[in-house]
Amino acid sequence: MEQQPLWAPWRVEYVSSPKTGDCIFCAAVEDRDHPLVVVRGSRCLIMLNAYPYAAGHLMVVPNRHLAELEDLDDGELGELTALTKSALAALRTLMKPAGFNVGLNLGVAAGAGFRDHLHQHVVPRWDGDTNFMPVLGGTRVISEALASTAPVLRRLLTAEREES
Ligand SMILES: [Zn+2]
Repeated sequence: MEQQPLWAPWRVEYVSSPKTGDCIFCAAVEDRDHPLVVVRGSRCLIMLNAYPYAAGHLMVVPNRHLAELEDLDDGELGELTALTKSALAALRTLMKPAGFNVGLNLGVAAGAGFRDHLHQHVVPRWDGDTNFMPVLGGTRVISEALASTAPVLRRLLTAEREES
């Protein structure tokens, strides 16, 4: 049987509270055992959001610390799009959402929480899910949801990338 990395729940708390000035995305690029990263391409990666708007909220992140879409080269743009497709396919298989929100918040005025390192959100949606997060509740529940979702997505996305 294939060996899966051990999940260390305490690390979610660790990566959820970066020190001021740290870039959570550069940290994910550099930490090869990052618990929220579910797949790595050569130029971008996919990770779970530690503060999800909905279950299965993923982010596609270029490895380079860049704020603007026009700063990405064609290779990075291509992989950002390819990994966004992979994220949609994996979430569709795993969670059967009714729809998705996909997109970039560029700049603080547009609602970017981390404005210096761009990241494409992929958020699965279900009919009538606007009150999902209050129902889901506290950090502990979110940590447990992330802990169970990450390994499943990792397997799905790795299998899909090996096929293509
Ligand atoms: Zn960064």
